[in-house]
Amino acid sequence: MTDVLAAFEAAKGFMPLAEGLALHAAAKEAASLGLPLLEVGTYCGRSTLLLAEAAAGGGTVAVTVDHHRGSEEQQPGWEYHDPSLVDPATGRMDTLPTFRRTLHAAGLEDQVIAIVGRSPLVAKVWRQPLGLVFIDGGHTDEHASADYAGWAPLLAEGGLLVIHDVFPDPADGGQAPYRVHQRALRSGVFTEVAVEGSLRVLRREPGDFPA
Ligand code: SAH
Ligand code: MG
Repeated sequence: MTDVLAAFEAAKGFMPLAEGLALHAAAKEAASLGLPLLEVGTYCGRSTLLLAEAAAGGGTVAVTVDHHRGSEEQQPGWEYHDPSLVDPATGRMDTLPTFRRTLHAAGLEDQVIAIVGRSPLVAKVWRQPLGLVFIDGGHTDEHASADYAGWAPLLAEGGLLVIHDVFPDPADGGQAPYRVHQRALRSGVFTEVAVEGSLRVLRREPGDFPA
């Protein structure tokens, strides 16, 4: 646990430690279902490490999905751009090599299945019920709502939906993840179980998922 937290803090990424601890606690609880823990938005693997460590404890795996080309706000000229993540051969963002180094350094390669692709396409071919869905991919309404629509219905009863970057006040950040959070609460099949910073944890309750 101390090792994985040290690796978390050493990795590139955007999640503060307190939110990481809340994500890790949710992942440990969800891993007891014995089903895969799914992340949308790998980036350089900072949050993936926490899911991987928790998954290993429950005898399951973490699955993480990213096209590795970066979100809108990570492109050159934007607020969250990191020039060291541009592949000189293509001139495009490529976070996959850094992600692999993060996993290797933490000794967690065997606990993770990394899928390179667009989240809605991957969701379309995925059939396995999930113990946890962590939504931390693109932050436009188009991307965030497609992530919810594609992955949330695959959660097993008792599984956890975790949403990052939920800002009820527009002064604090973009509203797309907040709108997904509101939609989940309105669906009638989720109950909020934890709040830490911009992280929200909801439990899938019995009942039909609304169309
Ligand atoms: N969870 C990471 C941060 C993720 S940043 C951490 O805590 O460290 C968001 C990531 O989502 C970026 O790497 C970007 O490439 C990816 N992304 C954005 N839209 C996507 C989409 N539609 N499909 C797959 N990945 C996407
Ligand atoms: Mg985030």
